[in-house]
Amino acid sequence: MDATCIFCRIAAGEIPAKTVYRSDAVVAIEDLNPQAPVHLLVLPVAHFAGVSELSQTPGTEPVAAELLAVASQLGRERGEGRGFRIAINTGEHGGQTVGHLHLHVLAGRALGWPPG
Ligand code: 5GP
Ligand code: ZN
Repeated sequence: MDATCIFCRIAAGEIPAKTVYRSDAVVAIEDLNPQAPVHLLVLPVAHFAGVSELSQTPGTEPVAAELLAVASQLGRERGEGRGFRIAINTGEHGGQTVGHLHLHVLAGRALGWPPG
């Protein structure tokens, strides 16, 4: 855990968040500043700066699979059969603002494409 990382602290329960899923390895919370009627963040409890750091770390395949499974299940449930989007913003040009891997799950309205 990185004590300076806001999502590490949320995963550890030190900073409150509206939690919608929790296991030993993965936490899902409501985004503080939702961009759609449904806007959830699915994150690993362990600190990875981004998707590359996770995928380049041997042995993390089960965490990667759980992140995707939880995000898609929440998208299916909350999207009420009308679809959803999973996004992983990465780095400066990818629009990443928090340096702890997280999957956005967006649903509840028609989402534009391409993104801005
Ligand atoms: P990024 O821009 O890195 O892809 O996404 C970061 C997301 O985290 C943003 O959508 C932002 O609203 C959300 N966020 C930032 N700080 C907090 C927080 O303290 N609590 C929660 N629940 N969401 C946060
Ligand atoms: Zn962290």
